[in-house]
Formats: sequence, structure tokens, C-alpha cells
Amino acid sequence: METTTEAGAATKRAARVGGRIFNFSPGPAMLPDEVMLRAQQEFLNYAGMGASILEISHRSKEFVAVAEEAASLFRELVSLPDNYSVLFMHGGAKMQFSAVPMNLIGLKAAHRAAYVETGVFSAGAIKDAAPYGAIETIASGRADKFVRIPELDMARLPKEVSYLHITTNNTAYGTRWNKFPETGDVPLVGDATSEILSRVMDYSQFGLVYASFQKNLGPAGTALVAIRKELFGHALPFTPPLLNYAAVDKGQSLGNTPSTFNIYFAREVMRSIKQQGGVREIERRNDLKAQLLYDVLDQSKFYKPLVDKAHRSIMNVTFDLPSAELLDAFLKEAAREGLYALKGYREVGGVRASIYNGMPLEGAEALASFMKEFERRRG
Ligand SMILES: *Cc1c(COP(=O)(O)O)cnc(C)c1O
Repeated sequence: METTTEAGAATKRAARVGGRIFNFSPGPAMLPDEVMLRAQQEFLNYAGMGASILEISHRSKEFVAVAEEAASLFRELVSLPDNYSVLFMHGGAKMQFSAVPMNLIGLKAAHRAAYVETGVFSAGAIKDAAPYGAIETIASGRADKFVRIPELDMARLPKEVSYLHITTNNTAYGTRWNKFPETGDVPLVGDATSEILSRVMDYSQFGLVYASFQKNLGPAGTALVAIRKELFGHALPFTPPLLNYAAVDKGQSLGNTPSTFNIYFAREVMRSIKQQGGVREIERRNDLKAQLLYDVLDQSKFYKPLVDKAHRSIMNVTFDLPSAELLDAFLKEAAREGLYALKGYREVGGVRASIYNGMPLEGAEALASFMKEFERRRG
């Protein structure tokens, strides 16, 4: 019987670049090693300028080139149609919970919007939209404890709503939409924060997709917004300029000083994705990582998967153990093995392994083999 030791974990950790752990944090989350290293290498002296990317003007031709390349790489990686704009905005995804209704609820005179409640963040989006119009939750997974994406009867979508909002991947529960609702003329809005650039998605199905950076793009505090241009021009009159999509687009996301480092970092992340073969290849690897963990769950009578098989996320894998004592021992021993931040969301409990793009295959392998070994000893 093997036992876990501090020394063993230290050896494993030392074997990783920079002594890095396998960090299963839901966000801010592990970013790709090669991008971290590149940012470190050119941190003091960017492109031979003798200054950091942090220290140069956001209006310098060097930074403007970074921002333009970040936007165009995103377009290329997701095959974004030409009639969409890419914006970089302050305040992460939660700021978009307000920006979306401020900009889009005025699309129709009724000032109504429809939302699907599939977890913690969709509930937050519903709450934050409330001041701006009539917000209707047309389907909710709450009665099922959010273990699956609720059935959606599109006939129940009122014709006069300005948009339908969904959360494409549910970070806390570990579910995702496999097939997005067909909304016809009603723009579909997606919060893709916890899965952006992790799987192939047809952006033309959406009027708007937003994602904050700290799961798959880079440092926290910034959001990427991809929006169909015909949705511009309906912002409520009190919308601040920095939250007004048309104004941000017109000012090329430079209405004030943007988070220059974040945009630079996201560019590096996207360069790396492109170099590795694009989103399809990243998705293949993500499927592989998730499958390693789901295989352990499916072959076990010890671990209890928390969500419906049909709606499993490949970014956030959730499960529970038979008792609070075993859960506690699992988390403690995992940490000693260099497997960190596995505690589930506080309202959900259990274990949550967030395996975003930055988690290497070896991290998922290490967790899968720890899970099997723990079950052998404690099951
Ligand atoms: C993490 C997360 C958010 C919150 O992002 P912030 O940048 O903290 O505002 C919103 N939505 C989803 C789906 C998330 O995973």
C-alpha cells in the first residue's frame, strides 16, 4: 500500500516547471506554463523596447498592435463572422451582467428579456439585470439542484423579448449546454466565461458572447465581448460610455486606459492555441482530460458524480465522497500530492476539479490516479 508523503509531493512538484503545482482552482485558474514563461521572459523588456508591456502607453503603436492582434486572433480561432466586433471591457464577466441589459434590453419597446437559470452565475446575471426591465426566467434547473440543463420549450419564448441569456458552461455545478437554443430573430446572449476557447462553438448562433479572462484567457478584471454589430445603438440613455458597446467599439476598446497586461497576456494565450493547432485540437485535449476523470467516476461505486451524464462539463468536473470525513481526507491528501484547490463550490459541496485549457494532461492524469489510489485505500 502506498502512502502519500510530503517528500513525495515535493519531488513531484520540483519536477514541474517553476516548481508549479497542479492547480484545480475554478478561477483565477492555472494558465498555460509556456505562456507564463514567455510573459516572464519578456516582462522587463518587451520587444527590445527596454520597457515592460506594463510601462508603455496604451496608445503606442506597439500596444495597439498587441490589442489588434489579440482581437484578430480571437476572430480567427473561433471563425467569427465579419459582422461581429471583438471588444475588451473592464470589470470581468459580472460587469457584463449589467452591461448586457443596459445595451440590449432597449432593442424592443417592451424592455423584456428572457433568461435560463442553470446555476450560480446565471442566477447572478438574472439578479443584476432586474433594474433595467422585465426579466423573465423562462426555464430553471433550480428544482433539480442544477444537475442538468433544463428542457427549453422555444415556443414559450415570448416574441417581444429583446434577447435570451444563457450561461454556456456552469462553473459551480459542472454542467454545460451541448446544443444551444435556436432563438430565431431573438438574439442569443452567452456567458462563456468558464469555457471560452475550450471547444468549437458556432458564434453565428449568438448575438453576443462574453467571457472574463481568468479561466481561459489570462489575468482577472477584463472581459472579451464578441457582438453582432447590428445590436449596437440601443443602449439605455444612462449607460456609462465605458459600458456602452457601440462607444467601446468606436473607441477600439481604448476609451480609457485598458488593462494592457491582460490584453497582452490573452494575445499570448491565443498565439499559443493557434500554434498548437487551434480550438479543435484544444477541445480534443480537453475531452481527453475530462474523460480521464469521468472514467474513474463511472467505474467507481465510491465516488458520486454530481451531475447528469448528458450535460457534463469538460471544464469543471464535480463529484462527492461517501462522507464528510472522507471528503476532508481526500482534499488534504490531494493537496499533499500537489493537487490543489479541489474543494467544491460552497453551496454545492464535494469536489470540483477545474481543468481549464491551462491544465496539462499530466495534471488530469495525476488526479485520476490519486482518485483510484484513494478509493483503493479508503473505499
Ligand atoms: C467566473 C465566472 C463569472 C465571474 O467572472 P468575474 O470576472 O469574477 O466577474 C461569471 N460567469 C461565469 C460563468 C463564470 O465562470
